[in-house]
Amino acid sequence: MRLLVTALLFLLPLLPPSARGVDAPPAQPAAQKVIIVGGDRDYPPYEFIDKDGKPAGYNVDLTRAIADVMGMKVEFRFGGWSEMRAALMNGEIDVLQGISFSEERSRTIAFSPPHTIVHHAVFARKDTPPVKSIEELRGKQVIVFRDGIMHDTLRDLGFSGNLHFTATPADALRRLSSGADDYAVVAILPGMYLIRELHLTNLVPVATNIAAQKYCYGVKKGNDELLTRFSEGLAILRQTGQYQAIYDRWLGTLEPPRLPWAKALRYGAFVLVPLLLILVATVVWSRTLQKKVAQRTRELAREAAERKRALEELRRHQDKLIQADKMTSLGILVSGVAHEINNPNGLILLNMPILKEVYRDAEEVLESHYRESGNFMLGGLPYARMRNEVPHLLDEMHEGAKRIKRIVEELKDFARKDDSPGDALFDLNSVAQAAVRLADSTIRKATVRFSAEYAADLPMVRGNSQRIEQVLVNLLLNACQALPNTECKITLATFRVGNARIAALSVTDEGVGIAPEHIPRLTDPFFTTKRETGGTGLGLSVSSGIVNEHGGTLKFSSTPGEGTTVVLTLPAAEETP
Ligand code: ADP
Repeated sequence: MRLLVTALLFLLPLLPPSARGVDAPPAQPAAQKVIIVGGDRDYPPYEFIDKDGKPAGYNVDLTRAIADVMGMKVEFRFGGWSEMRAALMNGEIDVLQGISFSEERSRTIAFSPPHTIVHHAVFARKDTPPVKSIEELRGKQVIVFRDGIMHDTLRDLGFSGNLHFTATPADALRRLSSGADDYAVVAILPGMYLIRELHLTNLVPVATNIAAQKYCYGVKKGNDELLTRFSEGLAILRQTGQYQAIYDRWLGTLEPPRLPWAKALRYGAFVLVPLLLILVATVVWSRTLQKKVAQRTRELAREAAERKRALEELRRHQDKLIQADKMTSLGILVSGVAHEINNPNGLILLNMPILKEVYRDAEEVLESHYRESGNFMLGGLPYARMRNEVPHLLDEMHEGAKRIKRIVEELKDFARKDDSPGDALFDLNSVAQAAVRLADSTIRKATVRFSAEYAADLPMVRGNSQRIEQVLVNLLLNACQALPNTECKITLATFRVGNARIAALSVTDEGVGIAPEHIPRLTDPFFTTKRETGGTGLGLSVSSGIVNEHGGTLKFSSTPGEGTTVVLTLPAAEETP
């Protein structure tokens, strides 16, 4: 009921004013009165006389259904279209169940709201060039069904001389099919229906939808009450769904299938929503995956870097261990060798002065014997030659033994196991001055341009001052040995490093310099470029050991051909008096 009311409210504005009840005569008990409904006998599928001679079609079923819901009695009277229109006007029939609306017709006929839209088309024989619009029909021979809406339309558009009329749409198509004239303008559904039914296989629609006409119930103007009943009935049928069933039965099969929006949306949704969901899921999944991959890549890179660092660290430690192990073995070896050499060498050193003394005493006897008896053989050689050689030989032997002693001492220094640097407070300036005094004669032989600068604000250092002195002597001797001539300078300076509590000392020389590839090897034991002149390559190795024991550093910078600077740093003692 509520639906009915809604439908009526909705349709009310569409109805002619008289139908809205203002001017309408009071409702009559029309159930008794038989309403004569007129129709075209040849306008399938809308209305036509079927094989059994009975009225049939969309309009007929619609009218029967309306009569049913509105409690009306109807009787159909079918004939030619022009005849039916005349019958309406002269009152032989009460209502036309299918008539297209036009302004002109509405002067004499009252129309219900449309129950369908009739689309009109241009039909042509298959061998005729197709047209696309009504306008292209100008100058062509066009068949149209008399008194049909397209008759009016074409007339209004100014088509007159070339129009040919027939009584029914079927006649129009038959005439066209037979080869007469060029085109026929017929409603598309009846046209298609008739082509099929009448087997007019040489015809085709060439321009569809050239006009769309509202197809309504129509009564003679003034008979609005009856029209209202049809309009109401139509509204009810729409609401109950019967209208759609009738429409589908007659027109649905012929009309090109129209997919209603809702249905299209529903079907679309069936396909699109899952697709969209899959798409969104895929995008989200791929984003997550990308993020995860990027994060994992970062982690892996970090892990790889850490592993590389750890590996390098491990290698460094391993190198150090190997080096330490080598040093230990070397130390043991060296101290053993040093001990073994030291004893016999000590004997040589001890006996050598005695032997020299002995020779000096024996020389007098040998000389007198030479003078008296002439030359004689001594040690397989003539005494005349040996008397000059022997003192030299003895001196050389003595010197050699002394050198052995010095090397052995250096070796012992190198192999010294005692790692404790000592715990005395000392002043680096004083130690430096002592070292300069010790190396004084060598410095003087090496250069005439030695200078030393001692900083006043140097912090005290803790450790073994004698061993640091040994380092400084070493540095000074190396500087002296590097100078090509006595004009080249050697400068010693002590200083404090910035604000840091570090005491530092530098020895700079204008000597031959050090090749860059030698710098990392300077503190290696036995590395020397002075082997020819008696270098052992132990001085810096021992010195760097001492400096390390004191927690200090020894750094070399050098330009070959220009000179070298060695910087020694030592951490200041905690409590400086
Ligand atoms: P040695 O002096 O017995 O060779 P060191 O350990 O004292 O042993 O020195 C190792 C090497 O370092 C030297 O042979 C020399 O090549 C180089 N060296 C050290 N100091 C200097 C310097 N001031 N100028 C040039 N070369 C130097």
